[in-house]
Amino acid sequence: MDATILIVEDEKQINEILEFAFKKEGYKTLSAFDGATGVEMALNDNPSLVLLDINLPGMDGMDACKEIRKTSNVPIIMLTAREDEVDKVVGLELGADDYITKPYSPRELSARVKALLRRSDITSSTGARVENTSTITSGDVVINIDRYEVKKNGKTVDITLREFELLKFLAVAPEQIFSREVLLENVWGYEYLGDVRTVDVTIRRLREKIEDDPSMPRYIMTKRSIGYYFNKI
Ligand code: CA
Repeated sequence: MDATILIVEDEKQINEILEFAFKKEGYKTLSAFDGATGVEMALNDNPSLVLLDINLPGMDGMDACKEIRKTSNVPIIMLTAREDEVDKVVGLELGADDYITKPYSPRELSARVKALLRRSDITSSTGARVENTSTITSGDVVINIDRYEVKKNGKTVDITLREFELLKFLAVAPEQIFSREVLLENVWGYEYLGDVRTVDVTIRRLREKIEDDPSMPRYIMTKRSIGYYFNKI
């Protein structure tokens, strides 16, 4: 395994523990101890995944996440210390792929890292495979399953891996309604302990990207008090 994990955590001891744990599992690691350096390394050192602590000196983890997302879709897991920080991570729509609340077990963190990397592996390894391309078309939205690509009106949509996975999951079974719990389980891909608001936030981001009017969606529909479904136009 040659994946590189960037650990952005100012507490030296925790940073070292994470470094040790991931190296033991065969990953390469990079460490940053403040937000600005973390952003710089995330954008320049080509990590496979970023673990980003929220409480950092100078630029905090939330601003760092927003900064990284301006130009990069690298998978990001936020490390949060408190439940109210989770609310912020979810509510602010920072574009993080996942979050984990301290104290977390190394096993849980490792499982989430693996799940995210597995997905981004698929993305990068399918980039060159053009034959047998399967697409789902609805109205002016075209979802290219093999190439992890979404086009709206002929223009490629800038989409994160998780947003793509969610859209794909809904779109391969149009008109079928899925509860948030089912979406969490299937799209987030492991025994997810997070909460269903994560689904709502990702749905909202998707709508902003593929709907003409996100408040009047035509593609990603809400079935009140049940869940979501994809509408094939
Ligand atoms: Ca910290």
